[in-house]
Amino acid sequence: MKPARTRFAPSPTGHLHLGGARTALYAYLLAKQTGGQFLLRIEDTDVKRTVAGAEQEIIDGLRWLGLDYDEGPDIGGKFAPYRQTERRAIYQRHAKVLMDKGRAYPCFCTPEKLEKTRQEQTKRKENPRYDGTCRNLAPDEAEKRIANGETHTVRFKMDQEGTTTAHDHLRGDIVTDNKQLNDQVLIKSDGLPTYHLAAMVDDHEMQITHVIRGSEWLGSFPLHVNIIRAFGWDEPTWVHLSVFLKPSGKGKMSKRDSAEANKDGHSVFIKDMEELGFTPEGVINWAALMGWGVAEDDVMTLNQMIERFSIDSLTPSPAAINFQKLDHFNATHIRLFSTEDLAARLKPYFTREGLTVNDGTLQKIIPLIRERLTTLDDCVAFGAFFFKDAVSPAPEDLVAKGLDAKRSAEVAKKCLEILSGLSSIDHATAEPALRSYVEESGLSPNQVFGLLRVATTGQKVSPPLFESMEIVGREKSLRRLENAIEILEKI
Ligand code: GLU
Repeated sequence: MKPARTRFAPSPTGHLHLGGARTALYAYLLAKQTGGQFLLRIEDTDVKRTVAGAEQEIIDGLRWLGLDYDEGPDIGGKFAPYRQTERRAIYQRHAKVLMDKGRAYPCFCTPEKLEKTRQEQTKRKENPRYDGTCRNLAPDEAEKRIANGETHTVRFKMDQEGTTTAHDHLRGDIVTDNKQLNDQVLIKSDGLPTYHLAAMVDDHEMQITHVIRGSEWLGSFPLHVNIIRAFGWDEPTWVHLSVFLKPSGKGKMSKRDSAEANKDGHSVFIKDMEELGFTPEGVINWAALMGWGVAEDDVMTLNQMIERFSIDSLTPSPAAINFQKLDHFNATHIRLFSTEDLAARLKPYFTREGLTVNDGTLQKIIPLIRERLTTLDDCVAFGAFFFKDAVSPAPEDLVAKGLDAKRSAEVAKKCLEILSGLSSIDHATAEPALRSYVEESGLSPNQVFGLLRVATTGQKVSPPLFESMEIVGREKSLRRLENAIEILEKI
């Protein structure tokens, strides 16, 4: 396949979400696989909807996901600028080309008039559409009104006869009766282009070979191919992706569904993913398979995806968001990271809890906690005690099952005596010594080791006890046991 040039073209109107990230991912994969380029273009011509900081959030999100673009607003490129509000003159020039060809015209209808027509049409149960008032104005009259400074837009002159056939790579030919198509605005009264004109012009100028975008654009698809054909340009390959449905599979994600997901430690916004302990590898893998028909459970890195990706195996059927799968892919990738890599990724989650992390200790605990992590921040629940000076076990947790506090204190004292007498509390030394005590005492391993676990870690669930004690170290472990005895004696 020839090198593909693809683009991600978000409007900076809100948070980068899962749907956008998946669109960007597929565009990235196709470009990289074919040795082409992937670029970022900011579509900010709807200035009223532009949100401060949204562009930066998109850039940060793509970087975090590892979807590095070859050209973009912050890095430039051969076709700069990559922010549409900075390309105003280019669109004006192109609108003029269409007007000269008789495929666009100035429209002087006021918003009030348009609204009135809309209301009348709705009353008559007709689909609202432009009524064509300015479509056939004599050119010299139009010119005169423009020269007089009359406010106007520029509209596309849609063929009213025949049909339009638009070809989508996943859905085949889509045929529309031209009578259903409207004379859409290309240039607004503020001089800025609409998406319809700006995106077509930019995709052409930036030599985009494949337009991969959300299926919400299927409705304007016939208009878009008509605009391109009116210019006489070659069309890109069009790929309209599947829609995402809420986890129940019924309808699209709403604000309320997002709030539900948040309560559950999930999110559809990329900015939240890191904070919630998700890895870019997990998120990308999860997103990739929603709409790409490889085997359901396929664990892949970005590089493996580049090798295996094909737009032919994308599916147009809607995909329900399944956060359990995100957990699964995240946990799976966590198991694949090297110890060093995982240590570096976990450290910030400990430090954000105010813990001072010793790097040597962190490396040592990785084998003990790795298998227990679904999200990176789970490391705190399992491993914070390694980095604390002391732990504060709940008194009732220290009381061994089936024993009272007094008897539990005696057991703890015996353990302390045994451990203090050992030359080292490495697990290989401590474990056999304590196990023979369990046997002699007639207590169960659960009773003794449960108590020791709570004393050493401060919690009932922890990584393996003896390995943990070894890493906590002799001095601290003994001190924690003494503290447990004190607590038990006070009950
Ligand atoms: N600016 C459009 C959006 O954010 C882009 C659609 C496209 O990729 O062409 O939905």
